[in-house]
Amino acid sequence: MPTLKKFQNQRLKKREITESKKKSQEIYNTDRWKKLRKAKLMLNPVCEICGKELATQVHHKDSFLKYENLLKRKEVAYNFDNLQSLCEWCHIRLHRDERKKNI
Ligand SMILES: [Zn+2]
Ligand SMILES: [Zn+2]
Repeated sequence: MPTLKKFQNQRLKKREITESKKKSQEIYNTDRWKKLRKAKLMLNPVCEICGKELATQVHHKDSFLKYENLLKRKEVAYNFDNLQSLCEWCHIRLHRDERKKNI
């Protein structure tokens, strides 16, 4: 039944989104992350992709979301060498390209 399948897929996708939101919050709500993020933006205040705009966001080159194990997730999330300072536009573009690659 194609309709049922579509419905199940939608539910699955919704669950995935909720879970990655939870996983992100687990990291982003910590003082440790806030300090790390600030330190990264102070060290690299300019976007590391375009080299022109002021960096306002910190990107994880290796996404911690793909790890099921919490310890591993934290290790990747808090690894300073895994961070990249980006401007909003480069960050959006980067994730858009990543999503295209996955399809
Ligand atoms: Zn940029
Ligand atoms: Zn990112």
